[in-house]
Amino acid sequence: MRISGQITPDDLPRVCPLLSRQTNPQYGEDRTRVVEVGGVRFGDGRPVVIAGPCAVESHDQMLAVARAVERADGDMLRGGAYKPRTSPHDFQGMGMEGLCMLRIAHEQTGLPIVTEVMDTRLVEQVAEYADMLQIGSRNMQNYALLAEVGRAGKPVLLKRGMAASLCEWLGAAEYIAQQGNLNIVLCERGIKAFPAGEYARFVLDLNVIPAVQANTFLPVIVDPSHATGVASMVEPASRAALEFGSHGLMIEVADFLTGRPRCDADQSINGETLARIVKFAQSHHERLLVDQQAV
Ligand code: PEP
Ligand code: MN
Repeated sequence: MRISGQITPDDLPRVCPLLSRQTNPQYGEDRTRVVEVGGVRFGDGRPVVIAGPCAVESHDQMLAVARAVERADGDMLRGGAYKPRTSPHDFQGMGMEGLCMLRIAHEQTGLPIVTEVMDTRLVEQVAEYADMLQIGSRNMQNYALLAEVGRAGKPVLLKRGMAASLCEWLGAAEYIAQQGNLNIVLCERGIKAFPAGEYARFVLDLNVIPAVQANTFLPVIVDPSHATGVASMVEPASRAALEFGSHGLMIEVADFLTGRPRCDADQSINGETLARIVKFAQSHHERLLVDQQAV
C-alpha cells in the first residue's frame, strides 16, 4: 500500500538534492561541510560549544553569563532576544534591546552570537546583530521564514521540530539551501515521544545523529538543555551526544548571582559545570585523534 505524502530516507535525494549525501558525491561517505561562524568552525573535528542564557534578561545578566562562557572556554554565545513562549502572557524577550545587549557581550568577549529569529519581518534586524540566525523548533516548518533566513547571508542554526522526522528536518534545511545558503548547522533538541514530559522535558534522540550524518554532509549538534529540561542531566547528556558523534553542543547557562532566570531556570547549569563539559569535549576530540593515529 502506498500512502500519500509519506517520505522515507530513500526519498531524500528527491526531497533535498542540494543537501543529500547521495546527490553530492564530492562529500563521499563521511565528509562534513565545514560551516564557519566568526572564526568558529562547525564540522571540522573539534566540537563547538555554544552557551548562554535561555533569554537575554538584562545587561548585567548577559555580561555575567558571557564572562562565565568565556572563562569556561566556550566557543560561541547564545541568548534569545525574541522568545517563543507557550503563553502570550509569559515574558516574550527584550527584542531590540536584547539584541544590543548581545552585541555588547560579543564586543566584550569576542565570542560570536547566535540568536533566534521568529518573524520574517525581523530577519533583517536580527541579522544585523547576530553572527548566526537560529530557527527554533516551533518554526522548523515555517517555510516563508526558512526562505527569508536563507536570503539573509548569515549562517543558520536549524533546530529540529519537536515532532519532526529526519526527512522533514532535512526538507526544511533544503528551503534554506535553495536560497543559495548552504551554511546550515542542524541541532537535535529532543522530541515528543513516549514518555516525554514525565521525568524529562523531551526525549533526547541521540540515534538521529549518525542518521543525519549518513544522509547529509551538514554538521549536526545537540542541545541537551531543552532535550532534558533538568540541569543535572545536561552534563551526562552532553557527554553522550559527543560519544554519538555530535559536532557540538548548545547549552543554557545561568549566573544565579544576578538572579533566577525568567525562563528555563531548572535546566540551566552554572559556569563550573559548563567548564567541565567543555573540557570533556576537548579531551574527547583529542582521544579520537590519538585513536585514529593508532589505526
Ligand atoms: C532555544 O534554544 O532558545 C529554544 C527556544 O529552543 P527550542 O526552539 O529547541 O525549543
Ligand atoms: Mn530555553
